[in-house]
Amino acid sequence: MDKVGYDSYIFEPMAKKKEQTPLMKQYLGVKSAHPDKILLFRMGDFYEMFNEDARAAAPILGIALTARNKKSEDQTSMCGVPHHSIAGHINKLLQSGLKVAICDQVEDAKFAKGLVKREVTRILSPGMVYDPETLDAHTPNYLCALDEDTLSFMDSTTGECFFYGLSDAKKKVQLISALNPVEIVVQSDQKEVVQEMVGSSWKGILSPLDEDFKDYKALPESARRLLAYAIYMQGEGILKTLKPFEKRDSDFRLHLSPNVLRHLEVFKTYKGDKEGSLFSAIDRTRTAGGGRLLRNWVLFPLADKKQIEERHKEISHWVDSVEELKPIRKSLYEVGDLERRLGKVAQPTCHPRDVVSLGNSLDSALDLVPKMRDFNEAEEVFNKLNPLSKKIESSFVEELPNNYRDGGFIAKGVNSKLDELIELSTESQKKVRELEAKERELTGITSLKVRYNNVFGYYIEVTNTHKAKVPNDRYQRKQTLTNAERYVTDELNELEKKVITAKSRRSELELELFQSFKDEVLALMESLLLLAHNCSQLDVYTSLAWLAIENDLVKPEMVVNGSIDLEGSRHLVVEQFVEKNFVANDIKIDPEQCILLTGPNMAGKSTVMRQVAIISIMAQTGSFVPARKASLPVVDKIFTRIGASDFLTEGLSTFMVEMQETAEMLNEATSQSLVILDEVGRGTSTYDGMSLAQSILEYFLRKKKSYTLFATHYHELTDLVTRYPKQLLNKHMTISEKLGEIKFLYHLTDGPAEKSYGIQVAKLAGLPKEVIQYSGQLLKRYESGSSRESSSSQLDLWQSVAAEQTESQDSSEFDDLLKSIRHLEIQKMTPLDALNKIAKWQQELS
Ligand code: ADP
Ligand code: MG
Repeated sequence: MDKVGYDSYIFEPMAKKKEQTPLMKQYLGVKSAHPDKILLFRMGDFYEMFNEDARAAAPILGIALTARNKKSEDQTSMCGVPHHSIAGHINKLLQSGLKVAICDQVEDAKFAKGLVKREVTRILSPGMVYDPETLDAHTPNYLCALDEDTLSFMDSTTGECFFYGLSDAKKKVQLISALNPVEIVVQSDQKEVVQEMVGSSWKGILSPLDEDFKDYKALPESARRLLAYAIYMQGEGILKTLKPFEKRDSDFRLHLSPNVLRHLEVFKTYKGDKEGSLFSAIDRTRTAGGGRLLRNWVLFPLADKKQIEERHKEISHWVDSVEELKPIRKSLYEVGDLERRLGKVAQPTCHPRDVVSLGNSLDSALDLVPKMRDFNEAEEVFNKLNPLSKKIESSFVEELPNNYRDGGFIAKGVNSKLDELIELSTESQKKVRELEAKERELTGITSLKVRYNNVFGYYIEVTNTHKAKVPNDRYQRKQTLTNAERYVTDELNELEKKVITAKSRRSELELELFQSFKDEVLALMESLLLLAHNCSQLDVYTSLAWLAIENDLVKPEMVVNGSIDLEGSRHLVVEQFVEKNFVANDIKIDPEQCILLTGPNMAGKSTVMRQVAIISIMAQTGSFVPARKASLPVVDKIFTRIGASDFLTEGLSTFMVEMQETAEMLNEATSQSLVILDEVGRGTSTYDGMSLAQSILEYFLRKKKSYTLFATHYHELTDLVTRYPKQLLNKHMTISEKLGEIKFLYHLTDGPAEKSYGIQVAKLAGLPKEVIQYSGQLLKRYESGSSRESSSSQLDLWQSVAAEQTESQDSSEFDDLLKSIRHLEIQKMTPLDALNKIAKWQQELS
């Protein structure tokens, strides 16, 4: 199967200038079978990369690029990483969208005749990773495949497998964008179509694979392709760690498009940070699996009243059992990433250490079984898994060796045969020391040493100074060093055989036991995965309860076709970031109603609108919501449209994009949808924009009748209330104005906003008085309908403003007056003083 690959990275064999060394020949032979991957070539303690591979990898890994044959003209670029630290390096390569082949030494260098035999032992890709623990714990790592009428996903690190039955290409793209797979496995003739479909914003890689997994005929083609790919990459063993493919339905879920997720900053802020997103504000999970499950809940909120209420009920239960929550959350923390630890057991890299940490996870998870409320077979699962947990606990030594292949990691008492071998090998060690002591005595050489190395085995070393004392009849010379001689004796040879046999029999047996141990774990995988899932669920429920307690959230009442009715509602994220107290608001939207929000920038319009959407998402996720009291309809879709200029800094939206998104929402919104329109039409000229805004608004009022929140700076739209008196509600965010200064109060109030706040805010921002006055006069003219006057009359206006500037002492006098009022020390004044003061001001002003 040489179809796995990706075109932008293709290795070209170097031009042959000279005869290659045997090692390079071996390398090039292996490489030619894996032209599309970075080949990590094991040499001693390092994995080396050569040529193009080295040049591609060095900058990604941040390591130095050097050259072999530095002096010759056909230099070979190379770089390398120590074998014990490859996990992190491989992860970096995979995350840059590269594939990796690991080529190991497959025979012991000791016994190799000539060049050590090397073979590719593993192939890795972004979707089939080396070490799941190098991944972000809260993000699933999906592989994806699609065919005519299904879309399948697999996370090989957690065993999660599912598919959707859908043929609509647009829906497929939406799901791909929401679930963000790192790799899509395609049939080679599908490649271009899929590339076009997912567009350039998707950052993963496409891997062609034309093989179909013939078994499992009951599964759709796309799911079978994922299985075939997983087996190709990791062997049949992986099948044991995968859950059965589950059919999921996107129809009974609240529909959130990628745009909505972005606009509402659900998982990331506009800047791309996780911090400051809705998810990071509500995520209190203590396990990685819980974090991934909560993410999935938020990504696909429920749209079924009963299911939503079940989740609310479960959270209520935990909110009412605060004293139980703390210890549970502590145990959860100790569970760690049970799912990914399970996945590791089937991998060739599984180290005894991985099994030990799995054991620790398992132990903590089993403690929680009685708390898992909907875990029907709790006791059964407990009885099944508890022996395994105990077994892991007692089977390994405390300090595990790094290189477990030489044995020494299984504890005494696990297996009687092994115990004998352990005895024997420690016994022989003792005998070696005894032999050393004996030889010292016999020869009188006190510095004589019995040593061991891989090439000669055991030998006796004598420094040159004492060479003469060596009994030549018994000692056979093995090797001469500059300052010492090495010998063996028959007795030592005998002993060596014993030691080595015991040692190798021991390590063989330990590896055997380890394998049967892993098989035992794999045989219990179904129960283990079920336990892991229940643990994640417990984590999500208890953490949402914790969130509710910490943040003073309330259980929303879900109503069918009712009003959105929020008392004292808050924006969970903005609330954390405003220095002053966040102003809570009451918001009520009846079915078919639209709230038209007017007012200047920074008044809090966008915040209050997003707040409603976020509360809806939270409620349908199953969470409590930030309000004093909340009653909410189950909505089918949420749409948001945020005006182009709000995004200018991110360079995300143009007016065209804005209109495309608006089109989608106008086509798809229903009377059960929640629609947020924020400054529609701002990206084009005034009349253009205003006309569009008005007709869009009226379309919602007449046709769509969704729950609508519409913020606009086109004040003219507020007059529409006379035509839609029942449906359209004018609202504004209150602002207080004292002595020409504006203060935002963030309080949602009935009625349209005052008109001239824009100019007030400009004044507040310190624009020159001339500009402020001129704009004030222009505004008056526009309002009286004389805006189309000749430019000469506008010039007049400007001149009159300029003339007024000569009277600007007025305003500076006014400022002085304000100052003196502010600085009055009233407590030191008598009433008469005060009267005199006022009389003085009056005089000054007249
Ligand atoms: P607008 O959309 O009217 O321009 P925003 O909703 O963007 O205004 O709000 C501007 C800023 O005002 C926010 O970033 C926040 O700091 C503050 N703010 C908004 N709403 C509130 C509130 N209810 N309480 C306190 N501060 C708020
Ligand atoms: Mg705004």
